Amino acid sequence: MNEMKKKLLRVGIYLRLSDEDNDKQNKLDNSESIKNQRNLLLGEIEKRSEFLLVDEYCDEDLSGAGTYRPEFERLIRDCENGKIDVILCKSQSRFSRDMEIIEKYLHNKFIEWGVRFISFSDNADTANIGNKKSRQINGLVNEWYLEDVSNNIRSAFKTKMEHGEFISPFASFGYEVPNFDNNKLVVDSVAAEIVKEIFNLYLMGMGFTAIAKYLNNKNIPSPSLYKYQKGIKLNIISNRPREEIKWSANAIKTILTNEVYLGHLIQGKRTTVSYKNHKIKSKDKSEWIRIENTHEAIIDEDTFNKVQIAIKERTKPIKQTGLAHIFSGKVFCLECNQYMRKKNSSKHEYLQCSNNRDGYNDCINKQSIRYDKLENIILNEINKKICKYYNEEKLEDLDKLNKNNKFTDKIKALKKQREEVSNSIAKIKKYLKKLYEDKVNGIITVEQFKDLIKDYNKDNDIYKDNLKSIESEISYYIKKKENVKKTKKKFSKYKNLNSLNKVIVDEFIDKIYIGKLNKKLNSRDIQIKWNFK
Ligand SMILES: [Zn+2]
Repeated sequence: MNEMKKKLLRVGIYLRLSDEDNDKQNKLDNSESIKNQRNLLLGEIEKRSEFLLVDEYCDEDLSGAGTYRPEFERLIRDCENGKIDVILCKSQSRFSRDMEIIEKYLHNKFIEWGVRFISFSDNADTANIGNKKSRQINGLVNEWYLEDVSNNIRSAFKTKMEHGEFISPFASFGYEVPNFDNNKLVVDSVAAEIVKEIFNLYLMGMGFTAIAKYLNNKNIPSPSLYKYQKGIKLNIISNRPREEIKWSANAIKTILTNEVYLGHLIQGKRTTVSYKNHKIKSKDKSEWIRIENTHEAIIDEDTFNKVQIAIKERTKPIKQTGLAHIFSGKVFCLECNQYMRKKNSSKHEYLQCSNNRDGYNDCINKQSIRYDKLENIILNEINKKICKYYNEEKLEDLDKLNKNNKFTDKIKALKKQREEVSNSIAKIKKYLKKLYEDKVNGIITVEQFKDLIKDYNKDNDIYKDNLKSIESEISYYIKKKENVKKTKKKFSKYKNLNSLNKVIVDEFIDKIYIGKLNKKLNSRDIQIKWNFK
């Protein structure tokens, strides 16, 4: 009769995996740990006839910091909705290590909702009022524990970053994290070629959007699609089918500005607010951890720097005065050597000799030149240069040509000369030796010896001077030859340009001189001083 009257309490048990489980000497696997918790709690329920198990809530979050605990959320909802009278848990720390959560629920909401909380290993029971202080102390100790773990992890990561170890599971496009060492980046040769092409396309004058379009048209897989195809874990979750993830202007910009391609690692750009709040926040640049030369570079420094300058130039807002002046500081008057200044009309932009302003009216180069026309002329000239020296189909011929070019011929001739002079010097040495022997043997007198040796010494000096100048001439031509090679290499990345930008102009052109207009022929002399021969 009494038994019947006794009100049954609806019990929910809460189970959670914890990193403590992994610290144990006899490592239990996850299912084992959950099983043990469950058995303990079911045993407790059996002891009390008023307890009725109605539900089990089980989370696999290891940290206890409460980032992603769907079952915990469900438990709270059920408590609020009056479905649960008692929560059973192995320990208070399994429920939460967060002081705020303990306070919020154990000492506030649960009381409001009429929910009792019991944990066994630390003897917490909200039905026992005198128990409150010990529950709070438990909460505090648990929170300290969590904070320590979090700080330890943070400092371990920081040390790794400071040692140039790669700590993210996601490598930038162009690299991969090898199985044998997941703190290292190695070049993914296929993706690296695409990265190189992106840098070259940008230097050729294409923008972010144009490059993205170009790659999509060529059916080159985007970084996420590529990784997906290779079976690599992705750091983005998208609802779209992978095949639809295309190259975007943003992806191109990210690649073009990423120092990882120089072989440097920049880590620690972002962090979480705290061990309790996992919101991502950006760190100040001064706090980033930057370690150089941690892995193989894909892009050389020269190219990378040029791209950074180009990005700055091209994204500069256009001023009221007109277009960003790609020839600025380079255009001069052929007649008076003054610089040509820019002036605008409603329709076009022009360049005019700066000696032609009011009060300066003393240059014969009166007629201004239209800016866009000059741009076309220069573009044409640069393309001619590219075609002449760097046309890809002709590169091989050019190599052959190089072998027979004037520098090579010159060097060959000089080397022959050097040989002749060296022979002469050797001959003199031989004569001197013979003279000395003749002197020793009394065939010639000391006086005669001195006389003869004077002449030979004089010849010897002349030959030696001669040899010196030949040597320096040879090294001069070798250097020139090297320069041709270097220039060739430098520009081999350009093919046919469609448009100019400041980077290209700066690379090719030192100065441009504009002559006066010949009205009869309607033409003018334009001379270009190239940055190379
Ligand atoms: Zn002038």
